[in-house]
Amino acid sequence: MSKLIVANWKMYLSPKDSVELFGAVAKKSKTVICSSFIALNQLSALAKKSGIGLGAQDCFWDNRGAYTGEVSPLDLKDLGCEYVIVGHSERRNYFKETDKMVGKKVKAALVAGLTPILCVGENESERKKGKASARVEEQLEYALDGLGKKLRAEQWIIIAYEPVWAIGTGNACDPETAVKMHQMIKEKIAKLISVKNVRVLYGGSVDDKNIASYLKNTEIDGALVGGASTKKDVFMSLLAVAAKF
Ligand code: PEP
Repeated sequence: MSKLIVANWKMYLSPKDSVELFGAVAKKSKTVICSSFIALNQLSALAKKSGIGLGAQDCFWDNRGAYTGEVSPLDLKDLGCEYVIVGHSERRNYFKETDKMVGKKVKAALVAGLTPILCVGENESERKKGKASARVEEQLEYALDGLGKKLRAEQWIIIAYEPVWAIGTGNACDPETAVKMHQMIKEKIAKLISVKNVRVLYGGSVDDKNIASYLKNTEIDGALVGGASTKKDVFMSLLAVAAKF
């Protein structure tokens, strides 16, 4: 399986900057770009031409209704998105998204025909207490349990293992630990859902210097990249390394 690089541009780039960087990203590997909501419309036409996948950074769990400020998964699909990040730790921490809410979003994304990129990962104190695996298993159970009927055979689910302490800190998880977590995640997923199309990505302070140390492991199917994906030179160099795997 070729490695997948997903860029999470968070709220770093304006629509103008997003269009500029998107245009510069050559198709060096299978790449997905998750931009801010308001840049998606402009990027959609570029995505169709370039073959780069387009994703949103969040969606709501219902398609229509009285939900001020929320974004419908159905509208994201209509706009040309194929992917949506769900349960990013910044949403869990700053906006108090619970495991249950994240589970509803995963299901809504799948029903709308989007590929969810489900973020899971323990925080620092959970890791220190030896509870990293238990926390990630719990997140997976909430998000994937009972999904069977919602899935079509051809649908994909992407899991991003993102230890919270490694996100945006420069303190990337060492690859050996990440591999162990990926093995555990793959075993757990096999018990929860019968779908074959699953990728597990690593995320947390990935850059062009350390990307190879993750991608060289068969257990790691790609990377979710935040800060480094918003800097043109670093991102291009990261994609060039990723293309070798
Ligand atoms: C992320 O936000 O998903 C992420 C991995 O960020 P960073 O690469 O900046 O740690």
